[in-house]
Amino acid sequence: MKKHNFSAGPCILPQEVLQKASEAVLNFNNDNLSLLEISHRSKPFVDVMENARSLALELLGLEGKGYKALFLQGGASTQFLMVALNMLEKRAGYLNTGTWSDKAIKEAKIYDDIYEVASSKDANFNYIPKGYDIPTDYDYFHCTSNNTIFGTQMKAFPNSPIPMVCDMSSDIFSRELDFSKFDLIYAGAQKNMGPAGTTLVVVKEDVLGKVSRKIPSMMDYKIHINKSSMFNTPPVFAVYVSMLTMQWLKNLGGIPAIEKENDKKARLIYSEIDLNPLFKGFATKGDRSNMNATFTLANEDLKETFETMVKEAGINGLNGHRSVGGYRASMYNAMPLESVGVLVDVMSELERKA
Ligand SMILES: *Cc1c(COP(=O)(O)O)cnc(C)c1O
Repeated sequence: MKKHNFSAGPCILPQEVLQKASEAVLNFNNDNLSLLEISHRSKPFVDVMENARSLALELLGLEGKGYKALFLQGGASTQFLMVALNMLEKRAGYLNTGTWSDKAIKEAKIYDDIYEVASSKDANFNYIPKGYDIPTDYDYFHCTSNNTIFGTQMKAFPNSPIPMVCDMSSDIFSRELDFSKFDLIYAGAQKNMGPAGTTLVVVKEDVLGKVSRKIPSMMDYKIHINKSSMFNTPPVFAVYVSMLTMQWLKNLGGIPAIEKENDKKARLIYSEIDLNPLFKGFATKGDRSNMNATFTLANEDLKETFETMVKEAGINGLNGHRSVGGYRASMYNAMPLESVGVLVDVMSELERKA
């Protein structure tokens, strides 16, 4: 039986997507060739890329609004510097909500001045700062919608007076938002969209072309847009599987439908964390992530018993990140409610035993 996979990333993908992906590796499009051995310039693959790009805009409700979708390489980590190269002329404002924001800040600092508009470092990033000001004369404001490691999530976004850039790597396509508030969104595929190897970038074209520096071709969004995300050989498998996952999501009813499921999963795990005296939640209540629930044992003596029970229940990937410790239940789009139920049963069983 397949395990209940709570891995934070790479992570769970829909079973039917994995099935179709494995078929395409052997015989893609009934052409008796593998998806992995055909030209990326062939019509079948060009169709995959175009379909993936339009599905991304469609799911986010950004069709016909001046946005372009790209599937690039180098992970979200490359976007940390690519955003700065393409948009940072004098100064940018960053909201620091954890490890990934911190890394984005570090990379942008290579190119120019960065101002931290607010930070939750003082409490090991267990909350989302609020009530900060975004200076009107900066080039852009950058934030991280979901903090995968700490288990916090921005529930509201500021009305930014300057272009707003958001790292949505770990909650893209998981909840309804007014995505037109953002001028650039990026997300590594391996958290909620597909296998590692590609990064979705959705950018409003009119924010580009405003910096004076020379941008290397591979780092230039405009070049990738002009070449329809095929400036060089794209990561064909990662794009194909991302396309299948977006298709799967669309067939389910898109973001509004999956958001309801994600809400149910989050309510189930957090009510157990709150009611069971053996566990303590890490993130501050109003800022808890619907994707990654972080928690610890109140009594470390129960560690071995709990972890044995977890293993026996067929649960995988529950260990917390080393900077938080404890446990992290990642419940991305493809995770069924039943798997969260299995984890919650183990937690309440521990309470009965202890
Ligand atoms: C995982 C993650 C990253 C890093 O992504 P890579 O694709 O490994 O570079 C960046 N930001 C967030 C929010 C993440 O969860």
